[in-house]
Amino acid sequence: MKISSIAVHRLSIPLRRPVRTSIHDLTHVHTVLVEMRSDAGLAGSGYCFAFGRRAAGALHELVLDLAPLYEGKDPVEVRAHHAAAWRALNFLGHAGAGMMALAALDVACWDLAARSADLPLYRYLGGARNRVPTYASSGLWIDSSIDDLLAEADRFRAQGHRAMKMRIGRPSAAEDVERVRRLREAVGPGVHLLADVNQGWDEPAAVRVGRRLEAYDLYWLEEPLPYEDLEGCARVSAALTMRVATGESDYGSLAMKRHLELHVADVLMPDLQRMSGVTEFMKAAALCEAYHQPVSSHLFTETSCHLLAASPNGLIVEHMDWWEELYGEPVRLVDGHLVVPDRPGIGYEPDPRALARFRA
Ligand SMILES: [Mg+2]
Repeated sequence: MKISSIAVHRLSIPLRRPVRTSIHDLTHVHTVLVEMRSDAGLAGSGYCFAFGRRAAGALHELVLDLAPLYEGKDPVEVRAHHAAAWRALNFLGHAGAGMMALAALDVACWDLAARSADLPLYRYLGGARNRVPTYASSGLWIDSSIDDLLAEADRFRAQGHRAMKMRIGRPSAAEDVERVRRLREAVGPGVHLLADVNQGWDEPAAVRVGRRLEAYDLYWLEEPLPYEDLEGCARVSAALTMRVATGESDYGSLAMKRHLELHVADVLMPDLQRMSGVTEFMKAAALCEAYHQPVSSHLFTETSCHLLAASPNGLIVEHMDWWEELYGEPVRLVDGHLVVPDRPGIGYEPDPRALARFRA
């Protein structure tokens, strides 16, 4: 079996609601989608994205640059292709846009390989469970009013969520604490509440505000500091009794190893495109397991659920709906868990109507 063609699509997918966090102000996810076909008539897909057309244009060029390393090859030999692409990225480096571009190809190739074995990706990776705990992440933004937060929490619960993530890091710490208090009071003790600072604090604020938030039983506190301040985050984690999560903004399994060696956080949440795809994500997950730590994920819900299902230490998967319309169907949610499709590969295909509608 051979990879007979690789199509690369540029898409601009509007967010249902523009997103603001302590460091973001966003309206579209500019997505570069790879469709990889085999001579057996199967197709796998993967994507990377950026915020902004020109940044996505750079990703597009890098995907086109790496694609010949996959063309004509057997999709099942996916780790060998990743290794070749890794070598090809040596000059640009193993962080940044090159890694994201590789992710689109690596994910498409794993999807195609699993389809050619007629197995869902989580089983192709050796996993046994097809349900993974999840948390709602497409809401509870930092610029929402408290009334909007409470209404959105109700919507999430009605959808079947039992865990949800709010964004904090407003200029006023008192407002952050009050918003967490009101939301905790509204959802009650049976719902996991997560809080993401999106790197918005410095170390003294993280310890000071973090300690005040511990009264509200947060499931985790996410990215309290600028992502590259590993030593600072390690000190914050040590100073707080609640779980600290981080890792989404760093690149490759080697970065996750550095986090683990320095005890930076209690949970790492590797990002599929910053890992450069499934190959490196699974290495990062295995490293976490070797260090007796759980692993979570960042975005890429449709694929990440397979990777956590296949990881014995997989904790909880982020449910983000930004690419739902690309696939033309929502993920299935039952009682706080994502049901991982038992269809071959990732189990989702890009909807041709969405490709036409979102073409950029
Ligand atoms: Mg985050």
